[in-house]
Amino acid sequence: MGQTARTTKLLLDFSGRASGGTNAGKREHLRATVDILNAARRFYLDFFLAHTEKLTDRVEVISKKTGEIREGIISADVLLTWAEFQTVETADHPTPLPDWNFAQAFPGFPTRYRRSVIKDAIGKARGYLKATKSWHVSGKKKGRPGVPTASNNPTLYAGTFTLDLDELDLRKSFLRLKVYTGTAWVWRHYPTVYNRFFERRRTEAGWEPESPQLVLGKQGAELHFVQTKTISAKKIVESKQDPELVTVAVDLNVKFLAVITVRQHGRIQATRFVSDKGLDQHRYRHLKRVAKKQWQSGKAVKGERSNQQLWAHVRRQNLDSAHKTARAIVEVCEQYPGCVLIFERLRKIKRKGGSTSRRLNRKHANQLKGKINQLAKEKAYASGVVSVEVNPHGTSQYCSRCGCLGVRFTYQAGQRITGRGGKLFACPACHYECHADFNASVNVHLSFFRGAPRKRQRRVRKPRLSEYLVCT
Ligand SMILES: [Zn+2]
Repeated sequence: MGQTARTTKLLLDFSGRASGGTNAGKREHLRATVDILNAARRFYLDFFLAHTEKLTDRVEVISKKTGEIREGIISADVLLTWAEFQTVETADHPTPLPDWNFAQAFPGFPTRYRRSVIKDAIGKARGYLKATKSWHVSGKKKGRPGVPTASNNPTLYAGTFTLDLDELDLRKSFLRLKVYTGTAWVWRHYPTVYNRFFERRRTEAGWEPESPQLVLGKQGAELHFVQTKTISAKKIVESKQDPELVTVAVDLNVKFLAVITVRQHGRIQATRFVSDKGLDQHRYRHLKRVAKKQWQSGKAVKGERSNQQLWAHVRRQNLDSAHKTARAIVEVCEQYPGCVLIFERLRKIKRKGGSTSRRLNRKHANQLKGKINQLAKEKAYASGVVSVEVNPHGTSQYCSRCGCLGVRFTYQAGQRITGRGGKLFACPACHYECHADFNASVNVHLSFFRGAPRKRQRRVRKPRLSEYLVCT
């Protein structure tokens, strides 16, 4: 049993007034709200760091499951009540600590926001204390943990926002949000950007909603809806014993981003090649341009960014194809329930030689591999498929049929040219020929079942002198 989480973003409409976007005043309110919440968080962070003994207090905890009483660390809920008791003036408790009067410092602060801020501050303060403690234990001189900053994306608990999704026309959805105008707390409506995937993901079965977060950037604002799902999947060790087990192996490459093979009963059942659709070439051309500009303009100025739009374009393209490739891998997995997804452990490749743009392009291709690996694992786990990494030793060099060391070759003008970088694979022992990436992908299955690809080492015995004598 495990748990997985995912985020669905809902963009607030910050386009121009004419196209129905939020007006400038309301945008200022969002900024002001984030600032005052940060200030309040700072207040409570300082408060908890001044009362560290309370944070690590040991109290008697009653277990919810078994009902037994044992000693444990004070819970965040109890701490929250305690902190409110100390800092907030109420009818029952008219005298908060003189130096820590929250109501005086932040008049009219909504209770829900205050609680979310306190919870945040508890988490941050505890994290800091824990890190400091382990730093003291380690006895290192360097690397002392810094005091946490108070800024964070505000979490919107129920009571601080409502999402009005018009049943008839989802294009007109509004977010009703309690914001700070600089003087008072008011409710405001923010139009959101229509997104047909949002509703689908929000109402999908099995996903439990968590409190959303407001993420305010330079250009726009987003609402991040976090959902969690409980996953029940078999352990790899158990699945490995199953003779009916289906394994899905993935070989990540540059031109074919992923070669996916499905194997059951020792046979390959299905294969899928996911092409990069010319991404590598396209990216190379952009990077060549970047490299040329860098060469023309000389040494980069520190603290200044160059070619920002070009880099953003490259990043977006990489991320997009990573998501699409990962999706393709998961689609294959979903056809075989209970299968195991196998990846090669990613190698640390240091590319040397070639032009600057070529090296840059290789670097990006490697990062893309890592991203596909990560995303595919996450997406697969969300649909109940466990993934495993195997030793990448020799997967692209040995024959997947007989295990002999093979050669790479390619056809050029009808001529067979042997050499590294050839996209085809040939085995000199069994004369098996196939696409090199396909061969590697099949080897990944074998790697999973027996630890490493089988190497049949046929040592050629040198004939003894007596044998020569017999021949002649
Ligand atoms: Zn062979």
